[in-house]
Amino acid sequence: MYSALKKIIPRTFLKKNESIIRPIVALFYRGHIVQCNLCGFKASKFIHNQRGGKLCPKCGSVARARRLWTILEPILKDRVVLHFSPALKLSQRIRRANTKDYITTDFSKEFKADKCLDILDIAEPDAYFDIIICYHILEHIDKDIQAMTELYRILKPNGVCYIQTPFKHGDIYENPAIHTESERLIHFGQADHVRIYSVPGLVKRLESVGFTIELLNFEKETSGVHGFSTEETIVKAYKPI
Ligand SMILES: [Zn+2]
Repeated sequence: MYSALKKIIPRTFLKKNESIIRPIVALFYRGHIVQCNLCGFKASKFIHNQRGGKLCPKCGSVARARRLWTILEPILKDRVVLHFSPALKLSQRIRRANTKDYITTDFSKEFKADKCLDILDIAEPDAYFDIIICYHILEHIDKDIQAMTELYRILKPNGVCYIQTPFKHGDIYENPAIHTESERLIHFGQADHVRIYSVPGLVKRLESVGFTIELLNFEKETSGVHGFSTEETIVKAYKPI
């Protein structure tokens, strides 16, 4: 249903009118087989996207946002949180949690956010945040070591930054000869990506600026109830005390 709509209606129109269209789409997916942990909607199935992911028919959340909520929900109370390029429904849930402070930011102005912070020069105090959510950001940043240094600076000792990017096996793939959007699409999988990380490669760079790393590795969910349809690695980067 939603896939069919995307083929015949411009994406910009769908995004602009998402709050009206989503509830209508959800009517066609009502059921009791699966459930979204972000909006609570019970459905007959999730919407399958082209990359093998599963979207909630009601709130449009992707699996990685729903998975992250299972991790964040128990630890948000009284914490100071910074969220880069926040997915809407996840952001709404965090805002309703009892955080001490919750700041959202998006440099590209693609996502609704409180601020427009430059990750290379973050206009926030040293050691201010308990939790930083930095999902699918670093693969867009040329000077990623500088960004990591800034994330480290604004994190409190014992604070944690949750990081995820697309990953490949082997080494990080970068190529300074690749500049154009079409080349980047071919080489890095997206027109605005500047590299593809590997998990060990990302870990090594994070450790080089001072972080201590813990990897959270998730298998594909066997029941399918929450739509965690793929394996997933989340990098937890701690600032040591
Ligand atoms: Zn949902």
